[in-house]
Amino acid sequence: MRFEISKVLDAIEGRVCTDPSLARAVLDLAEVIRYQDIDGGRPASLLRLGMVIDALSRELEEDSVQVYAVVHRALLSDADLTSNERMVVRRWADDGLVEVLDNPGDRMLEVADLLGLPVLSRVRFDGLRGRFPWLVEQPGRLLAPVPGAGGPAFIAHVGGGNAPVAGTRSQAGAKLLARQWRCPESGCALFGGGGGGGAFADLARVVERSPAAQPPPALRNGVPTCPRHGTRLNDAGPRPRSEVLAVRVGGLVRRRFVLTDERPVVAGRAPEQDGGIMLGQWLNDEARRWISRGHIRFELRVGEVVVTDVSTNGSGIRPSGSMAESDRIALAPQQSRVLGEGDMVELYPGVQIGRAEELPAGAPFTPTSVMAEAPTMAMRLPRP
Ligand SMILES: [Zn+2]
Repeated sequence: MRFEISKVLDAIEGRVCTDPSLARAVLDLAEVIRYQDIDGGRPASLLRLGMVIDALSRELEEDSVQVYAVVHRALLSDADLTSNERMVVRRWADDGLVEVLDNPGDRMLEVADLLGLPVLSRVRFDGLRGRFPWLVEQPGRLLAPVPGAGGPAFIAHVGGGNAPVAGTRSQAGAKLLARQWRCPESGCALFGGGGGGGAFADLARVVERSPAAQPPPALRNGVPTCPRHGTRLNDAGPRPRSEVLAVRVGGLVRRRFVLTDERPVVAGRAPEQDGGIMLGQWLNDEARRWISRGHIRFELRVGEVVVTDVSTNGSGIRPSGSMAESDRIALAPQQSRVLGEGDMVELYPGVQIGRAEELPAGAPFTPTSVMAEAPTMAMRLPRP
């Protein structure tokens, strides 16, 4: 059973990030894992994070959604967590997947403001409405997780809706995210430049973070600052351009990924390339036979998304997302094309990739649970 729990925690790990392009909501990790009403279980449980992520997935009607978690350092030694859970949180902190801070203060709202994200919290933040007017002006930007029939649900603090609403990046956010930043502290997980931490320090576990995936700096008196170390950040030049793409299979957005101008990304049944997007797990037998291991290559060239078919069987382009067969443009093996506005590439009928904001979910569906690996025993909800 311990092994099963580890697998669930691994799955949850894939859903926490500080990547400005992929995070869909900001939350206070300590609050979520201590929210006993959700399952009536232990005082603290990391599995509650998975439950809240599942709830967010259901609301956004999308699989694999990721959250931006901010948490006080005290959580790393919280005796209410199991030693395994503490170890996992420490790993997330070391890898920069969550922000672990000595003084989180209003960092959660700052991140939400800079990135234009909703906040999941039971706190109302009444005192911060002046600084962050969207707390009131945009109902759905601040939602409280509450116990629901099939796991947690959300209720907006203002207006009472259930759906998380994304805003737009603030002006400060857009400016900060146009640059890349370096923290002078060696081995900084959030703004490191690679290396650091000594000659043999965790060589096996160094995470290659693209500069495009750097979190937003904190602003202290207008100065870009490392939220972890409180040090002034150095400007390390322009951030690479990036574009967020999404994979839709059978009408459901299964995952998003970031394409930068640093390197191409190959998607297919089971690409061999580094950073490839594997689709095999979502395909039926017919689609698996049709789609090559590496099927389509994406490149970002001067802001344009260029697709190249690298498959055996070829692909198609759906111009402006049109599903009419007469509009479909064939993309033969080795052929390239610029992905125009609203276009998506179709690897096989029902298997499409396009810009994330242009790919609405079509059919009704149930997102896959991040808890799928959880043993029934550990996940059984209490009967009132
Ligand atoms: Zn730092």
